[in-house]
Amino acid sequence: MDCIFCKIVAGEIPSAKVYEDDTVVAFNDLEPQAPVHVLIIPKQHIASMAEIDERNSAVVAHIFEVAAIIAKEKGLDDGFRVVSNCGESAGQSVKHLHFHLMGGREFGWPAG
Ligand code: 5GP
Ligand code: ZN
Repeated sequence: MDCIFCKIVAGEIPSAKVYEDDTVVAFNDLEPQAPVHVLIIPKQHIASMAEIDERNSAVVAHIFEVAAIIAKEKGLDDGFRVVSNCGESAGQSVKHLHFHLMGGREFGWPAG
């Protein structure tokens, strides 16, 4: 399968990892949109949030535990944002489930 995030999991594409365990990996986004911009992904290939069901949702819960750990480590005590773009209209460009953890600046709502 030609998936860049599976290749990052396999170590075939280099990345600046900030966290890794048996089921998830987190690394700095190549084009950061905030002073802290980390992508947290399951090691298992799941295409998007639309493919989450009762068989694979545990890894999503774990990703949110990891998000809280990374936010603490990065000192994001004022706040942070976690976003998952799902599908074309939401602007998902990589078809491997990922959560953007962003912080270190003010955010608008719903965009920006
Ligand atoms: P999406 O647009 O799917 O929500 O987010 C994909 C994110 O992956 C983008 O923010 C983009 O900068 C990031 N990205 C794409 N390719 C790579 C890569 O090879 N390495 C890293 N670290 N980030 C990537
Ligand atoms: Zn993948």
